[in-house]
Amino acid sequence: MSVRPTVLKLGGSVITDKEKKLTPNLPAIERLTKEISRANVSPLILVHGGGSFGHPVAEQYGLKEGYKDSSQIMGFSITHQAMTKLNTLIVGALINHNIPAVEVQPSSCVITKAGRIQSMEQKPLKKMLEMGFVPVLYGDTVFDSETGFDILSGDQIVSSLAINLNARRIVVGVDVNGLYTGDPKTDSGAHLIQHVTLGELKKLENRIGGSKVTDVTGGMLGKMFELKPAVEHGIQTIIVNATETNRVYKALKGEKVVGTVIER
Ligand code: ADP
Repeated sequence: MSVRPTVLKLGGSVITDKEKKLTPNLPAIERLTKEISRANVSPLILVHGGGSFGHPVAEQYGLKEGYKDSSQIMGFSITHQAMTKLNTLIVGALINHNIPAVEVQPSSCVITKAGRIQSMEQKPLKKMLEMGFVPVLYGDTVFDSETGFDILSGDQIVSSLAINLNARRIVVGVDVNGLYTGDPKTDSGAHLIQHVTLGELKKLENRIGGSKVTDVTGGMLGKMFELKPAVEHGIQTIIVNATETNRVYKALKGEKVVGTVIER
């Protein structure tokens, strides 16, 4: 690809109400799609998280532990369907703002091995990018060559795609201002880290936590683990608060913005 793509991740904590099952945050989705449209960055890949659509059902059926018994089969279908419903809302909002978004289902193009992406069919996705479409992927139920199935996080997809497509920039939108010295939701003394190198990140690791609500793939610790290989690859990565107006817009444009820049 001649022009390096930008990969934007919208966290489940931003586009859904993580405390209420199957509840989208429609005003946030509307505002963010407007910001994406206004930024007009191309080529662009969007990846979104599951929030209250994916995680509660995935947990209920123990999908992260792999296939153990036949009752989980239905759980896989229900979890995947919930994710496609959320994806439809995002893709619909993008199209309403004149962005040619197309859903790319990870469950149909990725195989994992013990939870890590083993193969991903990328030809249609590359063609989409070349032609000016915006592929929209998401954290999803996927088939796993060792465990039967697994939950693949949006964060792992972001990093893997960014490396494979030699992305120009990764923008990660979450519900906090960036990476802090501790979980800002539980540690009032935590402060925002505006810039961090991989070496500095290593020293901070025991102070980064998971997610307060049901999240089978994550929290900030999981996010850092996934983003590190892309940063190592030399891809500029920034974490911003996507619940605040214009932060995603500015990050997409490469403008100065409140957040955490992670560099090699
Ligand atoms: P998303 O679902 O949007 O991808 P997560 O909920 O998985 O995001 O991760 C973001 C959450 O991680 C924040 O809401 C925050 O409460 C938590 N967190 C834990 N430790 C930290 C930290 N050191 N800095 C920032 N956030 C942290």
